[in-house]
Formats: sequence, structure tokens, C-alpha cells
Amino acid sequence: MIFGETRRKHVGTTEQKLLFDSQKGRCMYCGRKLGLAYLHVDHKTPISRDGSNKIRNLQLICGPCNTRKGSMTDGEFRRKYGLTPATKAKGPPAKAIPQSYFEKKTKEIADKKAKRKKKDGGFWGL
Ligand SMILES: [Zn+2]
Repeated sequence: MIFGETRRKHVGTTEQKLLFDSQKGRCMYCGRKLGLAYLHVDHKTPISRDGSNKIRNLQLICGPCNTRKGSMTDGEFRRKYGLTPATKAKGPPAKAIPQSYFEKKTKEIADKKAKRKKKDGGFWGL
């Protein structure tokens, strides 16, 4: 039995190159330029959430963005970090977004969550 044959986690180099070219070697989320070896193949809709291995469900993102995305879908990630919606984004952002932006956002969201917990009211649920 060949291990991992049925659940293909590894994406072929042809697909990776196609993505790399179409994204001009930049992370789809923060736009930073990296070599193919440093870009991670991400499933827009994670496999764990019924995403497919088809190329239109794939994109290349950098390590930090990948870690942040976790098991979120592309849409969830974009909403969370206030990025251009996928329907409007034709590719990576025209100008690279610094990692500090994402870090600040992560902190803001965590703070908001903490506040929400403290209040336990309906205010944030509006
Ligand atoms: Zn990135």
C-alpha cells in the first residue's frame, strides 16, 4: 500500500507553477514576493471542511498567512482581516501588506472578543 495515495495532500508541481505564475510569485493575502519553495499551497476551503484538491480551490500563501488562516475558508479569512473580497480581488494585493497589519488586526479581534466576553450582552451581536 502506498501511504497517502488516496488522500492526496501533495499538490503537483504543474499546479504549483501555474499558481505561482498567475500570482506572480506573491502571497495571495499579503502580497509579499517569495520563491516557490517558500510559498505554501493553501486550500481556500480546507480539506477538513470539504474543500477539494482542484486548482480553483488552491492558492499560494506565505507561511505566516497560512498559520493565521488555519482552518478558516478564504472568505472567512478575508472578512476577518478586512481584505478585498475574493470576488473583487483579481490576485494578490497590488501593494504588499506588512505583517504588522495582520498582527494588529489579530490583536484587535482578540481584544474585541475579550470585551465581548466581559460584557456578555447583545451589543456586539448586532
Ligand atoms: Zn502572506
